[in-house]
Amino acid sequence: MWNQRSRWNLILFAVIVLLLISSIVFLWMKTNIEVRSVVEEQYQNQQLLLTRQISDNIERSLNEKVVLLEVIAKKDTGVPPDNFSSDLKSVYDVAGMFYVVEYVAEDGTIVSGYPQEYVPYGFNLYENKQHRAFERVKETGDVYITDPLRLMEGNYGSFIWVPVYEGDDFKGAFIAIISESDLKSRYVVESNSSSYAYLLDERGRLLYDESGEYERGINYAELMNSSSSGLLDIIAAQINGTEGNGKYLLLDNGSIVEERLVSYSPINWYNQQWSLAITSPSSEVDRLIVSVYLKLFIVAVVSVLFIVFVSSFIVVILFNWSKSLEKEVDEKTQELKESNSSLREANRKLKELDRLKTEFLSIVSHELKTPLTAMRTSSEFLRENDACDTTLRRQMLDIVIRNIDRQSRMVDDLLDISRIESNRMRFHREAVDIEDTIKFTLGLLDASLKEAGMKVHVNVPEDMKPIYTDKDKLVQVFVNLLNNAVKFSKKNGAISIVVENGEEFVKVSVSDNGIGIGPEELKKIFDKFYQIDSTSTRKVGGSGLGLSIVKGIIEGQGGTITVSSEYGRGSTFVFTLKKDR
Ligand code: ADP
Repeated sequence: MWNQRSRWNLILFAVIVLLLISSIVFLWMKTNIEVRSVVEEQYQNQQLLLTRQISDNIERSLNEKVVLLEVIAKKDTGVPPDNFSSDLKSVYDVAGMFYVVEYVAEDGTIVSGYPQEYVPYGFNLYENKQHRAFERVKETGDVYITDPLRLMEGNYGSFIWVPVYEGDDFKGAFIAIISESDLKSRYVVESNSSSYAYLLDERGRLLYDESGEYERGINYAELMNSSSSGLLDIIAAQINGTEGNGKYLLLDNGSIVEERLVSYSPINWYNQQWSLAITSPSSEVDRLIVSVYLKLFIVAVVSVLFIVFVSSFIVVILFNWSKSLEKEVDEKTQELKESNSSLREANRKLKELDRLKTEFLSIVSHELKTPLTAMRTSSEFLRENDACDTTLRRQMLDIVIRNIDRQSRMVDDLLDISRIESNRMRFHREAVDIEDTIKFTLGLLDASLKEAGMKVHVNVPEDMKPIYTDKDKLVQVFVNLLNNAVKFSKKNGAISIVVENGEEFVKVSVSDNGIGIGPEELKKIFDKFYQIDSTSTRKVGGSGLGLSIVKGIIEGQGGTITVSSEYGRGSTFVFTLKKDR
């Protein structure tokens, strides 16, 4: 259901749409009217130009012909013996549009002419009472052109009377007849069929009607009075001998048949004044407008298509651009996320390191202090008991020496780790027999191995050749790994040392069946200061530096070290060493 508000919105919307449509229609109509009047004006000007050209042509051509006759009519040498026969023939030939040219002697008798078959020799104007024009030129001495008269052949023609003089003496006249059919070819409008020409004389009589509808000689104004509106003004202007444009409505029993546009221009030919008009329906203008609109429409369609094409092209480019931007932003965001998380990880590590350092300090102080306490106790005992027996004295001194060793080991570890950190650890590489080195290390640890009841299995390939490495550091690696194996195994455990010979490297694994290491701890045990359980470590001793030093020694010589382990089942440390220099 419509509520009150949405109904009002709808009405408002409809009103706005109506207003928009009506203003578009109004503007369109206004533009159309303006366009029409401009095109109509242009069209009429073109038509007037054509009319003027045709009238000028006719006028010039008619006047030229008469001038030809005037030239020979003013011969000072008098009437030639052939009565102008040869002159008239030349004029006839040059003019090319006379029906006939004749010479009427002083007494009004036709005495010569051309072409001879049309010349009524001996015809006397006075006897036949046709001397009016002859008399007129005789009196005025001017050329006289008659209204078109019916010729013997049924055709109409204008008679041109040119007085002939010898000095001041009147010697008769030339008559030249121009037939209307010769002129017609010059009126004909070479345009579309809906335009036609008509020619009026100075009294408004129709001399020629190209449409063929009306009889020549008819008074055009009277004829068109009832069947047109506005034409009478045009005819009046034509009779006045002016030139211009006009339009009128063609009527049929009072109703409009069509509107016609007329352009007219005068033809002045001696005493004759004619007016040529060309008329065409104003629907011609509409036809032109339609063709203009059609062209405009085509241009508009092409432009729209072009714009659509260009804009879609731009849209595609922008779309791709925005996509690539989006992708770039995604990538950058991802990078930021990654660097953020690595920062967080680094932060976490730093915190862990800080914690480890604190722990390390307490371990180191403990580790440094414990031997000192033992040494102090033993030393005090010896000072107070001068008389103690040799065995006891020796035991006390052993304690002192062991603790000095323990402390110097601790100091050595600290020095090693600092060298590794600052990349200052030096390796003295030499040919080292790996089996001998293992045996040597086992000898060093013999006491503690025995104390823990550890069984040690060593497996070295028989053809094992010496490798180039730092022997003391290798011993240090074995000591650390074996010490750990002892520390983190129950009594009477087993240790296995297996050496495998590779192409470039030897692979050494040290396994025990001790307490093992959990998967989380495995990732960290090579970190310096790291101890899985510092409290238990305190029991077994150690600073959390052993594996860091081992890793530093191995990697410092181009090798690798890995560990695999399982809780309660034992651990295996595998390291590789380069065989050659
Ligand atoms: P420490 O000098 O304290 O032994 P290490 O760097 O050598 O330090 O070892 C780090 C930690 O790794 C030890 O504290 C211990 O928890 C664990 N660990 C090392 N070797 C073994 C092993 N063979 N079995 C079980 N745990 C081990």
